[in-house]
Amino acid sequence: MIIILKPSATEPQIDALKGEMSAEGLIIQEIQGETTRMIGLAGDTSMLAPEMIARHDFVERVMKVSEPYKLASRRLHPRDTVVELPCGARVGGGGLAVIAGPCSVESEDQILSIARDVKRSGAAFLRGGAFKPRSSPYSFQGLGLDGLSLLKMAREKTGLPIVTEIMSPKHCDVFTKDVDVIQIGARNMQNFPLLREVGGLGKPVLLKRGASCTIDEMLQAADYVLMEGCSQVILCERGIRTFETATRNTLDISAVPVLKKRSHLPVVVDPSHGTGHWDLVIPMAMAAVAAGSDGLMIEVHNHPERALCDGQQSITPFLFDGLMRKVTELHKIIAERNGE
Ligand code: PEP
Ligand code: MN
Repeated sequence: MIIILKPSATEPQIDALKGEMSAEGLIIQEIQGETTRMIGLAGDTSMLAPEMIARHDFVERVMKVSEPYKLASRRLHPRDTVVELPCGARVGGGGLAVIAGPCSVESEDQILSIARDVKRSGAAFLRGGAFKPRSSPYSFQGLGLDGLSLLKMAREKTGLPIVTEIMSPKHCDVFTKDVDVIQIGARNMQNFPLLREVGGLGKPVLLKRGASCTIDEMLQAADYVLMEGCSQVILCERGIRTFETATRNTLDISAVPVLKKRSHLPVVVDPSHGTGHWDLVIPMAMAAVAAGSDGLMIEVHNHPERALCDGQQSITPFLFDGLMRKVTELHKIIAERNGE
């Protein structure tokens, strides 16, 4: 629900109304529009009678938000959210943020070599899985806490902030301490207790779309994170499961403009998991940028043929360097066009 205030509304009147609403257990979001001031309410508003709120003489009108998600909705938050880290790295706000690195951290040599290469080519974040969600329990499961230590070492040597996936709430403390952006993977996008725990950690969160989830479901998952106090959520389109078998997933490029229209949160695209084939990564990265993505997540491996996970969709540092040149050029052209 959105309460649109009259310009004459005074601070004590607004505070009293906000107090009433939070006593009902609702989450309050102040919205400053171009000319109007509004109060957004998220939570169970079924007991509120809009006509009773509209009776206050400082209230212009009351609008119901029909979408099932509220805090992620652009209606409650018209301005774009920019996710900004203390080191200065940001996602959103007009730039193109590239998150690159191997599917999994495998060794000190591997992660340091890839981190240095992607940094040199212009990546803004280092990715690498330490806890891997593998379909088979017999596949490589990641190096766990040792993998996190190697990521920290790579951060120290390159200055790149690290993005890595959390699988269990039991790792919340160590992730809060050591990780810059906490990734929720596709398989956990609807693990609601995990979403809530991570939302309360005070860290930026990268939320990947579940392979069988709709955009509405993804934005509701984002609400679970946002309602715990986290305002720094990045949405990631990584392909969905369809009848098509030529690619690992079907990368839903249309999700980019749809998400940008419906939500204020920045959007990045992962063409590596989205296609499953290294030679499709560059064309689909270009498509994502053309569609308005705020960033990309790219799997890069120095020896894809020997990778312990997802080698077939990993590009080499040499190809990554070419990708960076192409997407940077394209992004510049698009930004200029949009500025016209
Ligand atoms: C990943 O990014 O390492 C990953 C496992 O991706 P997804 O959750 O999208 O499958
Ligand atoms: Mn992977």
